[in-house]
Amino acid sequence: MSLFENAKKQFYKSLKYLNFSEDSKKILSQPKEILEVSIPVRMDDGSLEVFTGYRVHYNNILGPTKGGIRYHPDVTLDEVKSLAFWMTFKCAIAGLPFGGGKGGIIVDPKKLSKKELERLSRGFIQSIYDFIGPDIDVPAPDVYTNEMIMGWMADEYSKIARKLTPEVITGKPVSLGGSLGRDDATARGAYYVIKEHVKKLKLNEKDLKVAIQGFGNAGFYIAKLLNDDGFQIVALSDSKGGIYTKNGKLDPESIMKVKEQKGKMEGVYCKGTVCDMIEHEKITNEELLELDVDILIPSAIENQITKKNADKIKAKIVLEIANGPTTPEADEILNKKNITVIPDILANSGGVTVSYFEWVQNKAGYYWTREEVSEKLKPIMVKGYNDMMEAAENNKIDLRTAAYVVGSRRIIEAIEAKGTTAYFREQSK
Ligand code: GLU
Repeated sequence: MSLFENAKKQFYKSLKYLNFSEDSKKILSQPKEILEVSIPVRMDDGSLEVFTGYRVHYNNILGPTKGGIRYHPDVTLDEVKSLAFWMTFKCAIAGLPFGGGKGGIIVDPKKLSKKELERLSRGFIQSIYDFIGPDIDVPAPDVYTNEMIMGWMADEYSKIARKLTPEVITGKPVSLGGSLGRDDATARGAYYVIKEHVKKLKLNEKDLKVAIQGFGNAGFYIAKLLNDDGFQIVALSDSKGGIYTKNGKLDPESIMKVKEQKGKMEGVYCKGTVCDMIEHEKITNEELLELDVDILIPSAIENQITKKNADKIKAKIVLEIANGPTTPEADEILNKKNITVIPDILANSGGVTVSYFEWVQNKAGYYWTREEVSEKLKPIMVKGYNDMMEAAENNKIDLRTAAYVVGSRRIIEAIEAKGTTAYFREQSK
């Protein structure tokens, strides 16, 4: 089954607990608009390559569509549609005035030079210019795109528009109108959520062992934030593999330093750094998921916990920082095993929430401090968590379904405020 059909199952499940008109279900069952573009790029050796890119507007009833742009060799339209679908519910749970969108280019950015990457990024904006805009659709970073790429994109848009338009893209460098605190926002949002959950369960943070899959922006910052609070980070991995320490804890910052120097963490951890003393073993990404830990944090890409390995998951809590890391079949297995899954659409919504703050600051031309950003982010994450918990407790359902109940309710209310089949039939009598 396609990723998109699977993603929709999560939403359909939540409808059982809501009053809704079939009209809403019809509207929310497919994207509003899809754009596919071919981007010609002059390569450094003089040859021409044509890359395929997508931008999807899933639904915009709550506001302009919002969501990142992914650069990855495995990008497909099915994936971009799913990611845009998740963004729709993510923005609704966080209570943001945004709908859901997403973009992607089929490319392995690691194989491009910096100049080629810049030409591709500017070329993409030239291709999708009419499809985006501060009050239409606002892109941001996602897997393998970063703030410099967002800076190029905002600059290209502004050049075509012949006016400075920083509010068209979020996740820009701070010097180009980015928000302070956007760098660690996804992780910080997840951190506030897991802190609430640990508090609710009355657990002692220092006793909790954590394994994190993915050491990109979100993976690194969640490791750092939790490590600073005393949680035991025992395993980390990136696309090339991972490391695990049975008796001790890993230091995310020194690992990041090694990764930056050597390009990978596997096998090079701690050489000549402070953690030489810590024994560790090399593990694969698959092995990391099955470790005997308290909290497992998938922080890379989708479809990592599937019916093949769900039965082997030993963590008690799964905190989904990646989008879509757990398949619906795996969800059922984890539920039966009483493993709590804190779903992506809540857990990783800190990123888009600070993107919203960036958009607001750009529109107002008035900028906040890092502390102000954190102070505004925390209550939004805590409210999202409490709303989800309340829906879960009232309906006796798992947290993912509960999160969809909260998000769906807000979107459906807006759709139905314009009238439903029942309303119009009544009037025509
Ligand atoms: N790509 C991020 C996500 O999946 C951020 C989106 C945004 O900031 O608009 O939530």
